[in-house]
Amino acid sequence: MYVDSHCHLSFPELSQKLPEIRAAMAAADVDRALCICTTLEEFERVHALALAYDNFWCSAGVHPDNEDVREPSVDDLVALAAKPRVVAIGETGLDYYRLGERSIADMEWQRQRFRVHIRAARATGLPLVIHTRSASADTLAVLREESEGHATGVFHCFTETAETARAALDLGFYISFSGILTFKTATDLRAVAAFVPLDRCLIETDSPYLAPVPYRGKVNTPAYVPFVARQLAEVKGLPVDEVAEATSRNFECLFSRTGT
Ligand SMILES: [Zn+2]
Ligand SMILES: [Zn+2]
Repeated sequence: MYVDSHCHLSFPELSQKLPEIRAAMAAADVDRALCICTTLEEFERVHALALAYDNFWCSAGVHPDNEDVREPSVDDLVALAAKPRVVAIGETGLDYYRLGERSIADMEWQRQRFRVHIRAARATGLPLVIHTRSASADTLAVLREESEGHATGVFHCFTETAETARAALDLGFYISFSGILTFKTATDLRAVAAFVPLDRCLIETDSPYLAPVPYRGKVNTPAYVPFVARQLAEVKGLPVDEVAEATSRNFECLFSRTGT
């Protein structure tokens, strides 16, 4: 059995096809999924999925790329986190990929939003789901400063270097690999995956995006997470069953509220 630790089933591409997606998940031995929240406005829809199905859970948070949305306070996030079946804070973090005309100094609002999420994670004891893109040094710096060692979580859809992976592992975080791991050009990322200990690895789809090979370019769904597991197994020279079992166990360990 496989677990998709990060998907966006509330997005329109997927929410309208939920019965088919759930059937495909069952057929592919994907027995659980974590539905990730990206805006406060979206929370009710994500939460409804987690309330409706006993193998879905959800997070509460505002994605760093979302600009014209309600800004969360620590109290907002703590209140959402108290609701049933909310098991994580995020996704949150820093993304300097789409700076455009702006400088890194102009992104203070993103760093401030990330700080708010880390404070909410500390206040609730829930793990953080961290998104970092072209911003790993600042992501780690803000995380170290705000968490003071009192936060855990996952660096999701990991595409950074082995040094960044090492730093995240040293902070007690897990590393989650997506369909990118299967892409032909992702040689460096496969080397990073070989280095991350299996007991700190998670797998995800980040669907509807980033469908793994052989579905690259198509709409992704949680039913495709076994392709990520197979690639991770190949990289580590292990049977896929062992990777499925370990990543499911890691999911339960990190998102411990899924077991209550
Ligand atoms: Zn993300
Ligand atoms: Zn995401």
